Amino acid sequence: MEEKETIKRQPEGIIFVISGPSGSGKGTVMEILRELYPEAGLAVSATTRARRDYEEEGREYFFKTREQFEQLLADGEILEHTVYNGNYYGTLKSEADRILGSGKDMLLEIEVDGAGQIKRLFGDRAVSIMLIAPSGEEQARRLRGRGTDSEEVIAQRVARAYEEIRQASLYDYVTVNETDRARECAEGILSVIRAEHMRSRRMADYIHDYFPDDEL
Ligand code: 5GP
Repeated sequence: MEEKETIKRQPEGIIFVISGPSGSGKGTVMEILRELYPEAGLAVSATTRARRDYEEEGREYFFKTREQFEQLLADGEILEHTVYNGNYYGTLKSEADRILGSGKDMLLEIEVDGAGQIKRLFGDRAVSIMLIAPSGEEQARRLRGRGTDSEEVIAQRVARAYEEIRQASLYDYVTVNETDRARECAEGILSVIRAEHMRSRRMADYIHDYFPDDEL
């Protein structure tokens, strides 16, 4: 008799695209989510925007010049990209290969344009979640409170945030990040992640492997 395969088939990682318009409080929620779900890989994007004081090369972003970014684009090294406040932002193919190649889930923290491009590229393998502030008023308050950006940049961010929220229906899930409840919001996202892993189509290989026909 042929020897049975004993290695559990490597499940395919799921791509979770998480968008949080400026002022949604996405930063804190993502920090908690990464603590709650350290097994996922966070894809570090490339950007041409200036590095903020607290940011480190390769941790928040890979910081590039315009020329470098355009070269990456020309070389097909960028999976999706957008221009946001005059700067390029893009998901590196190398990051996706690294994370998905290891069978892990991949988290992408990207804005609406990029989310659409990833959905078109990966279809059902990508699940999109939009995080929003409880209201427009609260969103503006959070943006001013951050103190990292000039009034002009803040105004641009408010306008862009509204445009993004108008596209919420394109997402699979929308979650409200209530004030001072970032943990609950992160837990909600984790529930989505767990539920997506239980989808019957994603369990088909498992059933095939562990309940083989020849054991009937
Ligand atoms: P920030 O300048 O605040 O770090 O990011 C500005 C916006 O760009 C955020 O909405 C963030 O999610 C988005 N962003 C960051 N990286 C990427 C990326 O690789 N692709 C796209 N499309 N958006 C990104």
